[in-house]
Amino acid sequence: MLTRFSKQKQMRTIKTKSEAHIMLTLTANDVRLGATADDWQDALQQAARDLESAGRTSSEYLAGMSAREQQSSTVLGNGIAIPHGTPESRNAVLNTGIRILQFPEGITWHDGARVYVLVAIAAQSDEHLDILRHLTRVLDKPGLAEKLGHASDAAELVALLSKAPAVAKCDTETLCLGIDASTPNELALIAAARLQSLRCVDTDFLASIIGQPPVDLGEGFWLTHHTVGARRPTLSLATPKRPSSELRGVFCLAGPGDECHDLLERIDNFLARNEPIDGLNAEAVLARLSGEAADAVTAKVTLLNTHGLHARPAKQLVQEARRHNASIRLRLLEGDGSAVSATSLTRVIGLGARRGQTLLLSATGDEARQAIAALTKAIDEGLGETVAPLQSAEQRMVVPEAEPARELTDDQPLKAVAASPGLALASAFVMRQPKLRYEQSAEDSEQQIQRLNQAIDDADGQLRTLIRQAEGGEAAPILSVHVEMLQDEDLYQATLEAINEGTSAEAGWWRAIDTAARAQEALADRLLAERAADLRDVGRRVLANLCGVTMPTPPDAPYILVADDLGPSDVARLDTSRVRGLVTARGGATSHSAILARALGLPAVVGAGESILAIADGADLVVDGERGCVVPNPGVERCDKIRRRLQQLEALQAQAHENRNQPATTEDGHTVQVGANLGNTAHTPDAVDRGADGVGLLRTEFIFMAHPEAPDLATQVREYQHAFDALNGLPLVARTLDVGGDKPLDYWPLPQEDNPFLGMRGIRLSLTRPDILETQVRALLTAAGDRPLRIMFPMVKDLEEFRAARAIVSKVQSEVLANDVQVGVMIEVPSCALLASTLAPEVDFFSVGTNDLTQYTLAIDRGHGQLSAESDGLHPSVLKLIRMTVEAAHAHNRWVGVCGELASDPQAIPVLVGLDVDELSVTSRRVPLVKACIRGLNLETARQQAEKALSLATASEVRDALEAW
Ligand code: PEP
Ligand code: MG
Repeated sequence: MLTRFSKQKQMRTIKTKSEAHIMLTLTANDVRLGATADDWQDALQQAARDLESAGRTSSEYLAGMSAREQQSSTVLGNGIAIPHGTPESRNAVLNTGIRILQFPEGITWHDGARVYVLVAIAAQSDEHLDILRHLTRVLDKPGLAEKLGHASDAAELVALLSKAPAVAKCDTETLCLGIDASTPNELALIAAARLQSLRCVDTDFLASIIGQPPVDLGEGFWLTHHTVGARRPTLSLATPKRPSSELRGVFCLAGPGDECHDLLERIDNFLARNEPIDGLNAEAVLARLSGEAADAVTAKVTLLNTHGLHARPAKQLVQEARRHNASIRLRLLEGDGSAVSATSLTRVIGLGARRGQTLLLSATGDEARQAIAALTKAIDEGLGETVAPLQSAEQRMVVPEAEPARELTDDQPLKAVAASPGLALASAFVMRQPKLRYEQSAEDSEQQIQRLNQAIDDADGQLRTLIRQAEGGEAAPILSVHVEMLQDEDLYQATLEAINEGTSAEAGWWRAIDTAARAQEALADRLLAERAADLRDVGRRVLANLCGVTMPTPPDAPYILVADDLGPSDVARLDTSRVRGLVTARGGATSHSAILARALGLPAVVGAGESILAIADGADLVVDGERGCVVPNPGVERCDKIRRRLQQLEALQAQAHENRNQPATTEDGHTVQVGANLGNTAHTPDAVDRGADGVGLLRTEFIFMAHPEAPDLATQVREYQHAFDALNGLPLVARTLDVGGDKPLDYWPLPQEDNPFLGMRGIRLSLTRPDILETQVRALLTAAGDRPLRIMFPMVKDLEEFRAARAIVSKVQSEVLANDVQVGVMIEVPSCALLASTLAPEVDFFSVGTNDLTQYTLAIDRGHGQLSAESDGLHPSVLKLIRMTVEAAHAHNRWVGVCGELASDPQAIPVLVGLDVDELSVTSRRVPLVKACIRGLNLETARQQAEKALSLATASEVRDALEAW
C-alpha cells in the first residue's frame, strides 16, 4: 500500500504544480466594458494595447497576435474570440495574464464570425489552452453571444464566461430509503455521503453537514442545506428504517440558494401536501417529491415527434390538458424529477423533451382518468404532427441494450457486420460474463480497504502480465491505459469514502466505476464512450478479484469465441494459437474488439445479435469475416465446402508467404508496389519480413498518443529512426499527425463540435499549431538522412491547405539535409480528388485514404454501428474519384497509392490495379496475400473489370459483377 499512497502524494504534487502553472483566471478586474472598434484589426490592436498597459506585454506582441490570426482565426464561437500570440512572440510577454474586452455592438472577425468579447491572452507557454478548455465549457450556453454583448457590469460578464448553467439533480440515485438510523444527524450524513459518492458535492460539504445539525421542518421532516463544497444543485432524501412522528426523513440540499430555488419549492410543496411516503419505493417517493398525489392517475408515454416537444406540439398538449377538469402534471423520466403543470405552455416547452424520451403524466380531479387517456392518445398520435414509431436504433440510444434477438437456425447464415476478414470453422465457446454476487454493506471498513487494495494490486499484476504478453501489439497501449485507470486517485477516493460509510469494497468500487463511466457516456462523444467501456472493463477485473471469481477459461482445443461484446483486455487475453475467430452480439466495425481482431489476423464478425449467445458451447460455428455472417451448426455439405475452401486458403497463404519477397507483377508484366500500413514503428521489421516493399502509411499519431504532451524532437527522431533502420533502404511514407475530430489528444483541447469528422481534424488542426508540425517534419527529415522519405498530409481539402503545409516542409528542408524526400497529399476529401489536376503539378504523389474518402463521399460515418456495412469503398462514386486522381497524377508523372482498407479487399484489388494505381498499402499481415493476388491478375482484364465497375450504379452491383467475373 505504501506504493499507492506515495503515488497519490506524487499525483497531488503534480496537480498542485500544474495548478500553480495555470495563472490565468477570468476576473472582473481584467474586463473593459463598452469598447467599440472600426473593424477586427482595430479590436485586435486595442486588445494588444490593453495587455501592454496592464504591464503584460511589450508593444511587439501585437505582431505575434496578428500572425496568429493569419494562421487561423481565434474565434471559439458563440461570440467569443481568444486572440493570443504565436510561440515566436513569447519574448514579448512580460507577465502571463489576460484582458477581456466587450464590444456590445459586435465586430465581424476575419473569418466572418460575429464577436462580442475578446479574451486577449498573454501567455509565456501554453496557458491559453487552459483558458480555451475553460471557455469551451460555456460555449453551448443558449443565447450566450447576445448576453455577452448586453452584460452591463464586469462581474456579470465574467459570470457568463465562467460557468455552464447548473443542472439540478434529484432522482432515484439521490434517494436513501429505509436507512438503519435513528437521528436526523445520522440521516443527514448518509444523505450527504450519497451526494458525495455521486460526485455532486465534495468533502467540504460533508464537513459543513457535520458542523451544523439539520433544521426541523415539522411533521417528522428535517432539512440540511449547504453551499460550500456543492458541485451542482442536488437534493437527497434519507428516510429511516423505522419512521416515527419525530423522524420521517431528512432532506439534504446542496448548492447556492438561487440554483436550488426549484428544489426548495419542491420540498415546500411536498410538505404542504403532507403525503405519506413510508414504505414506498424510490420511484414512488420521487413521484411524491415531484408533486404527484398518491391517488393520481398516471401514465407513461414515449414522445415520437421528430423535433421533440417544441412550441407547436406543446401547444396542442396544453390545449388538450385545459379541456379537462383535472390538475395535470408532466415530467420527464430522464429528467431531474421536476414536474410542471400540463396547462402552462412555457413550462411544458421548458421540459425540453426529445424524441424517444418518456413523459410521465399524472392527474387528479374529477376528469383525471379521461384527461390521462386523452393526453396519452394525443401524444401517441403526434400532437398534430406526423410521427413515425421509434426504430430499434433510436430506442437503443435512449436505453442502451443489445440488438433484439433474431432467430438462430442450424445451417442458416446469420447476417452480421464484417469486422476482420477470413474464414473459420470450429466449435463455439461462449464467454458468459460470470455473475458477480456480493454484499452491499460491510461492517469492518479497515478489512474492506485491505481487500480493495489487494484486488487492485492483483488487477495491476494481471494487466502487466497481459501487457508483457501483448508487447509490441495493438493491445498493449490499451492495456496500459487500463493500468493508468487503476491508479486513478478519484476512483480510489470515492471507493474509500463509500467503504467508510459502511459499503462493502465490491459495492463501493463498482459504484465509483459506474458513476465515472456514466459521466463519460453522458458526454455523447464516441471516443469517451469507448473509454467508459474501458473503465467498466477495468472495474469488472477488480470486482472479479474481490469476489474471488476467475473469468471463464476457454477450452484447450481450437474454438471460436462468442461473446456479448469483448473488452480490449478480453481480446488481448486470447490464446491466438487456439482461437480461430471472434463473434460478438454487439459492437460496430470500429469497436476495439474489431480493431484488435484485425491486428491479430482473426476472422471476426460483430453485431450478430443476442441470439448468437444461445449457441451451445462446443457446437460447430462458421465465421465468415469477409461476407459478414456466421452459420451455427453448419450441415455436412456446408462443412465439407468450407473445409475445402480453408485448405485452398491455407495452401494459397503458404505459397504467398513463400513468394513474399518477389515483386507483385501481373501475368502481363505490370508491377504494383505493395507497402505496409503501420501504427507503430516497432512493427517495421515484421512488415519487411512479410515482404513489404516499404511502409506505405505510417500513422504517426501513435507517438503523440503515447506521451502526456507533444513528444519532443529527440523522442520523435528516435522513433522514426527505428523504422528507417529496419527498412534498410526501402521507402517510408509518413503521414503527419492526424488527430482531432474523433481522435482527440489530451494535451490538445478542442472545442466540442457537432460534427467532429467535419471539423478540426488532420491538417486543419495541425496548421493551427505549426510548431508541432514543424517539429515532426524536422524529426522525420533528421531521421531519414539519405534514406527515402515520403511525407503526406491527411484530410487536405485543396491546394491552399497543401501549400501551407508544404511551406513548413520547405522551411525545414532548407535547414536539415535529407536527400530523398517527396511530399504528397492523402486523397481523403472528395474536393481533393475532384481537383487533383490542380494539385498534381505541385505534389510528388497522392495516397488515397479510402476509409475517409468513402465516408465523405457516401456521407456515412465510418464508425456508424448500423451503416458501416454500407460504407463500401467499391461504390462507383468512390471509384470514379480514384480514377480522376490517377489520371491527374499520371498526366504529371506522379504516382498514386491507395492506403485505406479497400487496398486489402480481394474483390477491390483487380479494380484498383485496373484503375492504374501504382501502390497498394495494406496491413502487414495481408502483404503476402495481396502480392499473390496481384501476381494472379492480367492488367488488361483488370482494366476491363475497373471499367465495368465504373459503369454500375451501386456498390452491391459492383460486388455482384466482380463475383460473377
Ligand atoms: C483512410 O482514411 O483511408 C486512412 C488510411 O487514414 P485513417 O484510416 O488513419 O483515417
Ligand atoms: Mg483517414
